[in-house]
Amino acid sequence: MNFKVDNKGYYGQFGGAYIPEILYGTVEALRNAYDGILNDASFKAEFADLMKNYVGRPSPLYHAKRLSEKYGTQIYLKREDLNHTGAHKINNSIGQVLIAKRMGKTRIIAETGAGQHGVATATACALMGLQCIVYMGETDVKRQHLNVQKMQMLGAEVIPVQSGNKTLKDATNEAIRDWCCNPADTFYVIGSTVGPHPYPDMVGRLQSIISEEMKWQLQEQVGRDYPDYLIACVGGGSNAAGTYFHYWDNPKVKIISAEAAGLGVDTGESAATIHLGTEGIIHGARTLLMQDADGQIIEPYSISAGLDYPGIGPIHAHSAVSGRAKVHAITDDEALAAAFELTRLEGIIPAIESAHALAVLPKETFLPNDVVVLTVSGRGDKDMETYVRKFEEFNK
Ligand SMILES: *Cc1c(COP(=O)(O)O)cnc(C)c1O
Repeated sequence: MNFKVDNKGYYGQFGGAYIPEILYGTVEALRNAYDGILNDASFKAEFADLMKNYVGRPSPLYHAKRLSEKYGTQIYLKREDLNHTGAHKINNSIGQVLIAKRMGKTRIIAETGAGQHGVATATACALMGLQCIVYMGETDVKRQHLNVQKMQMLGAEVIPVQSGNKTLKDATNEAIRDWCCNPADTFYVIGSTVGPHPYPDMVGRLQSIISEEMKWQLQEQVGRDYPDYLIACVGGGSNAAGTYFHYWDNPKVKIISAEAAGLGVDTGESAATIHLGTEGIIHGARTLLMQDADGQIIEPYSISAGLDYPGIGPIHAHSAVSGRAKVHAITDDEALAAAFELTRLEGIIPAIESAHALAVLPKETFLPNDVVVLTVSGRGDKDMETYVRKFEEFNK
């Protein structure tokens, strides 16, 4: 099993770059440039400085004692919720905007669903003085008004998308359309380990700062640089890819991913791509996706806007199909219960996406001395309306 991208952009049978002819030159230019930039000493120094002094890294690795006691094991939380803008997404946005600048691009475009990636990218653009345009489905614009206002305050132009279901998939299509029309000056900042090669690899490497820190934090706290278990939630798969990056090849580390089951895998209201998906092409990559017999995308559903995507990053399709990762489908109610539990046991209100990873804990059996590292991908501020609505039901 190999979890490094091959020279054609594949992880096993998944990945590649299925793009319209008109974008070939643009994607090829990025493919030729990104590896050199990521390995360049001055890029690394600039990225490291911003991660430390702007984002606030390293994010803590916190031994959650009351949660550990509850599950009879040793649980450590990787606190991406404490980053500037409240989630792991800022690592990627800052990295890609730095790459865009080095490629001489002056105009940044992005897609966003809940608005988290849009806010992170608008933040990076304000920081670096670049023009920012964010495509967002009209339905999401209405649902996530606070994030729209944040993006506008940061100086970004938010363009509501009227096609399809008016959600993330439609915003992505519109961003790709823009990119096709403006290939010379425009850089498309994709928010997860999805899209055509080299995006999944580029995003995974920018997020790999998560497991890079874990290695020395574990060495310091438990005396070895690897855990027995890694647990993360998977939407497109960027926080998970960053969490697993330095551990794919270590067979001692068991990898568990949580995807969103919505109301349940078999209810027709789900976003459990690995459980329900079949092989196909979405947004430029061959991967597992939720589609009908005619290859039309089935609209996903999850309580969590960040996990509500009909595809999945090719590295995670490969890790699931090859058996490297075990994947749990977590329902809305299981995630809500886990969010309230973490809040009461540890005083941490997690993002509803991260709560899907926490909901894995009661589904697995751990030994008392197992070291279980779980990534809390973001904080729950954005989900307070949902939590308040469900408070009575889950706190009887
Ligand atoms: C966007 C988001 C996710 C899902 O995206 P991935 O690319 O799968 O990490 C998870 N958690 C939070 C807090 C998010 O904002």
